[in-house]
Formats: sequence, C-alpha cells, structure tokens
Amino acid sequence: MSGRILIVDSVSTNRIVLRVKMLAAKYDVDAVASCAEAAARIAVCPPDLMLINLTDDSDVGHGFCRKLRVDPKTTHIAIISIGALDTSVARFSALDAGADDVLPRPISDALLLARVRSLMRRRNMSRELQMRDGTRRNFGFDETPKPRITPARITLLSENPVTARALVDTLEQRMKQRIRINTFDCALTDTTDGDTASGGTTDGCTTDLFIVDGTAPVLTAGQMFRLVADLRARESTRLAAQMVLLPRQHADTGAMLLDLGADDVVMGAVGADELLLRARSLLRHKFDQDRLRDTLRHGMHAAMIDPLTGLYNRRYAESHLRHIAEQAHAAGSQYALMMIDIDHFKRINDSYGHAAGDRVLCGLATRLKQNFRPEDLVARIGGEEFLIAMPRTTQGEAIAAAQRLRRLVNIRPFPIGDGATDLRVTISVGVALDSLNPQDATSLGDLFKRADAALYDAKANGRDAIAFSQSAA
Ligand code: GH3
Ligand code: MG
Ligand code: MG
Repeated sequence: MSGRILIVDSVSTNRIVLRVKMLAAKYDVDAVASCAEAAARIAVCPPDLMLINLTDDSDVGHGFCRKLRVDPKTTHIAIISIGALDTSVARFSALDAGADDVLPRPISDALLLARVRSLMRRRNMSRELQMRDGTRRNFGFDETPKPRITPARITLLSENPVTARALVDTLEQRMKQRIRINTFDCALTDTTDGDTASGGTTDGCTTDLFIVDGTAPVLTAGQMFRLVADLRARESTRLAAQMVLLPRQHADTGAMLLDLGADDVVMGAVGADELLLRARSLLRHKFDQDRLRDTLRHGMHAAMIDPLTGLYNRRYAESHLRHIAEQAHAAGSQYALMMIDIDHFKRINDSYGHAAGDRVLCGLATRLKQNFRPEDLVARIGGEEFLIAMPRTTQGEAIAAAQRLRRLVNIRPFPIGDGATDLRVTISVGVALDSLNPQDATSLGDLFKRADAALYDAKANGRDAIAFSQSAA
C-alpha cells in the first residue's frame, strides 16, 4: 500500500463513497464517523493523511484538527477538509484550523486524487529527511542550524501586470514584505539576485514561494504544465514552493498541475486572508524541509571535516583512499602515500601552550592545502599527524614532493600568536608507493603500514627528514 488514509465523516454514504475511491487508488483506508473515534484510531496507528468533513460539527472538527497540528506526534498528518461549504469564510476556518486543503462538494475525483498524491509525496519526502536526520543523530551529530530569521522570498509570476500589481499590493501590505513580480518566461532564466546566503540555506534558490497566476487566460494549459514542471526540475527553483491560482472550472488542469509538482492549487476567487494562510502554510513546510536539509548537510560536513584545520578527517580519508586505490588499479597507475608527523610537537604545547600548538597545526594545514594538487588528498588523521595521498605518482615524484614538503615547513617559522616570536617547526615524512604490477598490488592496509614504518625510520634518522619504503615485501 502506498499510504494510510483515515476518513472522518458522520454520513455513512460519504464514508463509503470516499473509501471506495481511495481503495481503488490502492491506499490503505480506515473510516470513522466522529472525531472521538478518529482520535482513538490515531493514537494506535497515525495515518499519513486524513480526509475529514468539517461541515458536520465544525467546532469539534476544527478543534480536533488544531490539536493534531500542535502535537509533535500528529503534526505531520496531512489533512484535507472534504465537503466544506464553498464560501471564503468556511474555507478560511478549515485552513486556519490546520487543513492543508479544502475541497468543496461536488468533489472532482481527479483533483481529490491529485491532492492526495501531492500531500503523500510531501509526507514521504519529510519522512525520508527525518529518517536520514535520525541516522545523523545516531552518529552523534546533533548541532542543529538556527531557524531562518530573514523574510521569505516570494515571486508572483503573471502575464497580467494590472492584476499582478493589485495582488502584490494586497499581499505586501499583509505580509509586510516585498514581493517580486516576474513573467512566466523570465522565471525560468532569472536567478539574478544571487541571494543564496539568505536564510542560512545554501540551495542556490532565489525564491521560496512562486505564486503562479493562471487566472488570466493568456496561456494554454500546456504552457502552464511546462512552467510548473520546469520550475520543479531546475536546480535554481526545484526546492521552491509553488502555488497556482486557477479559474474555478479548471479542476482537471489543477489536478495535472499538482501531479507535475505544484504544492497547492487555488480554484476560483479567494480572499486575501485565505491566500495569506495558504502561502504561510506552504512556506512553513518549505522552511521545515530546508532546515532538515541544512541539518543533514551540516552533519555530512561534520562527518568529513576536521573542525580545527578544515582538512578532511581520518574517517573521510580512509574511504576516499579506497577510491584512489581502486582507480589506480583500474588505470594501471601508481599512487603514493605520505605520512607526516610534526617533530617534538609535545614540546611546543609544553613550552608555549595548547593554543600555540593549535596555531602550528592550522599553519601547517594551510601550507599543505596550498602546495598540493586538487586531486591529492590532504587529511589530518591524528593529533599532529597528517596524510597525503597522491594519485598517478611515480617514486621519483613522490620523493621530490616529500622533500619539497619538508623544506616548505622548515623554511619559514610559524606564527603562534600573543606577540610571541614565530616558531621554527620541523616534520618527518614517511613515503610509500603502491605497486605497478596489479598481481602484487599492495593492499591499502599494507601501504599504510609501510608509510608508517618509513615515518618511524625518518624519526629514527634524527627527524626533519624523509624516508621511503622501498618494497612491499
Ligand atoms: P615526535 O617527534 O616523536 O613525534 O614527538 P612529539 O612530541 O611530536 O609526539 P608525541 O606523540 O609525544 O606528542 C604529540 C602531542 O600532540 C601530544 C598531544 O597532547 C598533542 N596534541 C594532540 N592533538 C592536539 C591538538 O589538537 N592540539 C594541540 N595543541 N596538541 C595536540
Ligand atoms: Mg605523533
Ligand atoms: Mg610528533
């Protein structure tokens, strides 16, 4: 089954008709006659989506929806109010109580099913992000980015400058923020404001919500479909929420638009209050998902990067090295491994303090980053130990690189702050090379051991030195 639906309606024929439709669409369906029964079912097994008749006993129904929305365990249940009176006031109250959409009778089957599909899609997306976030937390990455404080970026797409201006004036006044107006054509090419930093998200999107004015009969349905699908597909706009305004009779077009990626379609004339409510609800969902995405991205970064130096950490280095090794074997080329250890680092800490030691680590990291090729892997794998992997590298090149590196460190002292004189630092380097012959290709573990043994030799030879591991044997 592709999702669980709970129907709440006191009229048994309504329940039966809806149940048949949802079963035909292969959903797992349950139906109850009252909010009290619904609450009991939800406590046992919360559905993904609820179809509720809010005209029945609307105070009870509205109160019930409000409760679901504030409870973290049920706040993610999508709610469609079915059969409400088709008045602006009735729609507003249902949306205000927490419904995601309101479908008055007679219900368009196409629109109802498309709405259910689109809300299920959103539910599944949230669930996927939450699941990955859970995995991240299990790994111990629990630093959550702050919620955004900058205003939402809203763009009205319209081909009718007069109605567009009127709509924007109303919305700007209510929302107390600027709303951009653009034509359909420009929307697909315009990422001009480059405001990627706003709100702390890094998705590259310059608009959080597109309101598409499909009420003026300038475009064909086909053109509308293309616009919505394009906005959903393009890198710069795919994460933006989309609300489409359509004339009342265009239920089939609305259904298709939902399937193509619109998040909300608003049929017929609606008041500014209702529009505002719908816009805010879409933005809330969009920002929730942005936050989850940012948290994940943040977690991924934390999982790979050493916070002190900004270099890759050991965990990342090990997995990336496997790729380097595989590629080298596939291409029949050699790669080199360098283990680097700062000489007498403990003395630096003991003599000048831990903070001075940290500055030396960062200074060394900067020199390493600046002096290796982009394809080389530079990582901090321990306290004062670093690793460099160099794909497509011969023995001569590896030894030359290690010598250059040694000079790079001891040629110029390192600043340690607090007005202290810059400090002379030396390193020891162990180098090992993968075998050229695929038959006796060195395993990664062996290569590590050989580079480590070479490093030990360099230390034993008096430090400020490099040593090369001659053979895999
Ligand atoms: P050797 O020449 O034989 O490598 O001697 P060493 O003193 O460099 O090596 P040892 O392993 O005895 O000491 C390493 C020191 O690095 C001990 C530890 O306190 C320090 N250290 C580890 N991580 C950090 C860090 O993040 N910051 C600072 N400042 N010190 C660190
Ligand atoms: Mg060490
Ligand atoms: Mg050391």
